Formats: sequence, C-alpha cells, structure tokens
Amino acid sequence: MTAPATSPASADTLDLTTEIARDLIRFDTTNYGEGRSNGETDAAEYVAEKLRALGLAPELFDSEPGRTSVVARVPGRDRSTGALVVHGHLDVVPADPANWSVDPFGGEIKDGMLWGRGAVDMKNMDAMILASLTDVLDQGGQPERDLIIAFFADEEAGGVFGSHHLVDTRPDLFAGATEAISEVGGYSISIGGERAYLLQTGEKALIWLKLVAHGPAGHGSRLVTDNAITRLAEAVAKVGRRQWPIRLTNTTRQLLSEIARILGVEPQSMGPDELALATGTASGFIQASLRTTMNPTVLQAGYKHNVIPDRAEALIDVRSLPGEEDAVLAELAELVGPDIEIVVMHRDVGLETEFAGPLIDRIVQTLDTHDPGAPVLPYLMPAGTDNKALSKLGIKGYGFAPLKLPANLDFPALFHGVDERVPLDALVFGRTVLTDLLTTY
Ligand SMILES: [Zn+2]
Repeated sequence: MTAPATSPASADTLDLTTEIARDLIRFDTTNYGEGRSNGETDAAEYVAEKLRALGLAPELFDSEPGRTSVVARVPGRDRSTGALVVHGHLDVVPADPANWSVDPFGGEIKDGMLWGRGAVDMKNMDAMILASLTDVLDQGGQPERDLIIAFFADEEAGGVFGSHHLVDTRPDLFAGATEAISEVGGYSISIGGERAYLLQTGEKALIWLKLVAHGPAGHGSRLVTDNAITRLAEAVAKVGRRQWPIRLTNTTRQLLSEIARILGVEPQSMGPDELALATGTASGFIQASLRTTMNPTVLQAGYKHNVIPDRAEALIDVRSLPGEEDAVLAELAELVGPDIEIVVMHRDVGLETEFAGPLIDRIVQTLDTHDPGAPVLPYLMPAGTDNKALSKLGIKGYGFAPLKLPANLDFPALFHGVDERVPLDALVFGRTVLTDLLTTY
C-alpha cells in the first residue's frame, strides 16, 4: 500500500501498536499531582472504542469529573482458573516542551522510534495491550483464562482517582482475579554484553511527606535566631544527606546472585552496589532497590525579599523497603528533630512476590521463545504502580511490559525523562510476546 508522500509514517505503514501508542500520546493527559490534572476522559473514550471494536463491553468510571478509568472483562476458555488483570494507566507526568527536541504531545516518529510523553510510561504498554488483545481475539480466538483489561486514571499521583478508587468502590470488577501484569518490568538490559530481561516482582513502599518549620514572621532586617527557612533548610539537608544502609530482600538477593552468575564471578566477590553497577543503564533502578531513599523534591517558603515568613515547607519523596515504612518514619522524626512538623500526604504499601509459580514460568518460557537464551531476572522496583491498589484485593502484581531494546538506549532514564521514546520494533516485539502469553496462560 502506498503512503501519502507528505506522511512517510502514515497509519497505513505503522504497526497497530505504534498507531495506538501515537494516538494516545496526542491526548495530553498530564497529571500535575495533588488533584490537578488535564484529565483522562478523551484517552479513556479512545481505548473504550478500541475495546468495543473487539466486541467487548468496556465500562467507564469517573471518580471525579475528567478522571476516567476503563475496565472490560474478556471471557477465557477455562473460567475456573484465576483471572489475570492486564492493566495500564492513561495519565502521564508533565513535560516542559522547552527541554524537549520534539513536541512532547506530538507523537512524532523519527529514527525508528516513537517520541513523546508516555512513549515509555506507559502509553506504549497501553497500546501493546490493545494490539495483542486484537490478535488474541482475531477470528473468534479466546484467551486461556478470563482477562480483566483495565486502563486507570491518576497512577502518577498514587492512583487515588484511579486504581484505588475502583478497588475501593467496585471490587466486584476484579472478582476472581489472582494475578496482574503491568508496567516497569519486562524490558531488556545489558549485563556484561549479554541481554537479560528484568521482571518486576516487587515494589518499594512509598511515603510522600511534607516537612514544615514554623517561626516568627517579621522584617527582614531583624536579628532572628529561629527563622523558619533556616530551620527547614537544616532539616532538609540532613534528610537529603542521610545514607540509608543496604538491606537485601529475597528479590534483590536473587537478582544480585543472577548478575554475578552472568558476569561469571562469585556473588561474594563483588559488593551489592558493584554488582548493581554492572547492569549499566539499569543500575539507577537497582541501586535504589537495595536501600531506603529519601529525596527532597519541592521547597516552598516566603513571598518578599525583606519579609521573614512564619512558615517553610519541603516535600520529601520517601521510598522504603517493603515492611520498613514505620521504622523509617521513626528514624526520620529523630533525624529532623521535634521542631519540624512531619505531615504524611500519601503513603502506599511495598510489595514483594516470589519469583516462582505458573505465571512466572509462562513468562520466562514466552520470552525464551521470542529471544532465545536471554535470562529473566527478578527485581524490586524502587517506584510504585497500580499493583499496590490491586494488592488490597489479594492480587499479585508483576511488572511485565515486554520490550527488546538496543543495548545503547538508556531506557530506564526515559521514565519521566526528557525526549521519552521507544523503538518501533520493540513495540512489535511486545505485542507478539503479550499475544503469546495471553493465548497460552
Ligand atoms: Zn507508569
């Protein structure tokens, strides 16, 4: 088929996955956090239409005006086995066009890649889900077990208006579900020149908190010893400088020993950070999974050069190892001292699942079919996903958005990064692997 001369990458020549991902990127579903968002409704209507075209009956749910999530159930051949939730989120984090080399919401295709906010996190997987579902249902086909297809709003702000809202108000939508797959796992990395896939089998806990310092307001020329900004700055520096000790969990211990095996060294001969660094581009994720992290992310205080404000605030993004949340909060309180108020704005559980069982076996076998010999390694994701909300229903969640990537692409840096982009052939790979998995599991 001949494409129009003006558009070398027209829909005619694109794989369905790329076409859907590009369309989704063009909906600016920016989520600014703290309830401010451009909304997901247009993108939700779009995916609902795709699901309807497959003969499914998607339901749309608005937790707030504009905050739309979509859920559809696909009946499987064997309805007695546990259903699999296959989910993605429709929102994206903000993108400042001034930093980008392309329009972040243009869905541009160049250099064999699709560019735009969401190309990695996670309109790529949203598209892979829809394209593979098209393949599975093609000509009257059926998945092996019931699939619950969900596209959530608000993941980038903790899922309050998306996954948590649906899990809390409509748990019946997920009846019979035992497992889930979604984002931030399944992509390939390079270890010692060998391609390997990271499968996400756990997530750190998250605590978003605010530090508040109070002090007397007054003229900027006064002699003041309890200036709120000074006190806050001291506390923020202590938090930001604190080095949390390494503590290995089952997942990270297994991951490090697998890295050592691939490198051909004794696990004890290299330290955990050293082994993590051997994963190259993925080392940022992996090093952060070995300990608690606390990053100051926002500072707010003052309104005039010669006025001392009575209050100063800092936002801190805390990611603790699963189960250590309360101990970490207690240690933080000690670190900042009694004069600093700590306000927890949002917190969510950590998760850790065994790297074993029929779904893991199926995933490993499927990847081996499509990329023979490449090992699959478990990892603990330092950030969070909608799997946290689903875990409230006892659903075990994994990060599996399969992408076979070139070794020179720093893929982990593209999550929330500038010039977010994904290779077109990786999208086709993901569609093929997911189709295979959903047909046979
Ligand atoms: Zn995401």
